[in-house]
Amino acid sequence: MKPVPATRRVWAIVPAAGSGARFAASSQEAAPKQYAPLLGATVLEWSLRALLAEPRVQGVVVALAAQDGRWPAIASKLDSAKLQTTIGGRNRQDSVLNGLESLASQAGAEDWILVHDAARPCLSGEDLKALLDAIDAPGFELSAGGGAVLAAPIVDTVKRQMQGEVTTVDRQGLWRALTPQVFGFERLRGALQDAAHAGIVVTDEAQAMERMGLRPVLVAGSPFNVKITRAEDLVIAGNILRTTEGSSMRVGQGFDVHAFGEGDHVILGGVRIAHPKGVVAHSDGDVVIHALCDALLGAMGDGDIGRHFPDSDPRYRGADSRVFLRVVAERMRAAGLKLINADVTVLAEAPRIAAHRGEMSENLAADLDAPAQRINIKATTTERLGFIGRGEGLAAMASVLLGP
Ligand code: MG
Repeated sequence: MKPVPATRRVWAIVPAAGSGARFAASSQEAAPKQYAPLLGATVLEWSLRALLAEPRVQGVVVALAAQDGRWPAIASKLDSAKLQTTIGGRNRQDSVLNGLESLASQAGAEDWILVHDAARPCLSGEDLKALLDAIDAPGFELSAGGGAVLAAPIVDTVKRQMQGEVTTVDRQGLWRALTPQVFGFERLRGALQDAAHAGIVVTDEAQAMERMGLRPVLVAGSPFNVKITRAEDLVIAGNILRTTEGSSMRVGQGFDVHAFGEGDHVILGGVRIAHPKGVVAHSDGDVVIHALCDALLGAMGDGDIGRHFPDSDPRYRGADSRVFLRVVAERMRAAGLKLINADVTVLAEAPRIAAHRGEMSENLAADLDAPAQRINIKATTTERLGFIGRGEGLAAMASVLLGP
């Protein structure tokens, strides 16, 4: 454990190893709830977003299931130096303990640890800031016994049904505990270890602190900070995010060029078109599909074709570019997005593509699982100007619109 720095730093732990039995029972989705698609991303990405964006948070540890094949794609998409992972445990408190162990060499005993549910995708930057402002307030530690919890007052009348008898619970002073919850590193570790030794499974970290006689304070948070438990909660979260995040439409553009070389055909939109020249390319040099892939990846905020299918990779030598398009389509589906429309322009003096446009649209539509009439293919010459005009190569531009 490093010495305590003058300022207590803030770290976050997100237990994301659960299989979500209640969610699975209510959903068609094979994925656990933290990986369910939500407005162009997954629930987990949304849940991490506010933590990664908050400058006071030094690092975020995500505790994952041991055989988690879905995380690497999300890590590459989030592309944040703050992200770390560890293997989660059998339950939430074991996962949080594993997260604390993985931070032990970086965090001080008095550093703050935020714990946030992987399935709370609507946490706002404002609520996170309010929670961190509360622990930064002078004298906080003395009065609060070491922690703070985002919470929302209960506004409904609360009923308890036990053995067939219904009674009304006085809602005076009742709050719903949300996350993040924030505690001192060493106190949280001690409290969770103590609960584990006593065989007690806590449902939030504050409960473990309360067992130790500590009194976390409640910080009023937004009721929009909902937890995904059942499939229908995704609809609620989606509507909240649409309101708070604005439009969920995503636009992207792509451009690709290949030089003409030896050969007797070119491939455009997956269609082989006879031509006195071929194209110089590592793959099949299909500029239509390359521009389209780049537009799709751009709309998803997911890098570019070179990052996913590098020229240096021998697997892609002579590759059928439709394979690239299908991989990109799968990423789009996993992100909860669909193609609304695509518009592609081929720039070439020759070959003429008019006779092939229908087949090209059909190919692209099949790979993208979209109606062919939503994929427009057009062509232009460059009036004999520039490298395209001189017949040295051809290019394509693509624009796409994606939506949930
Ligand atoms: Mg290319």
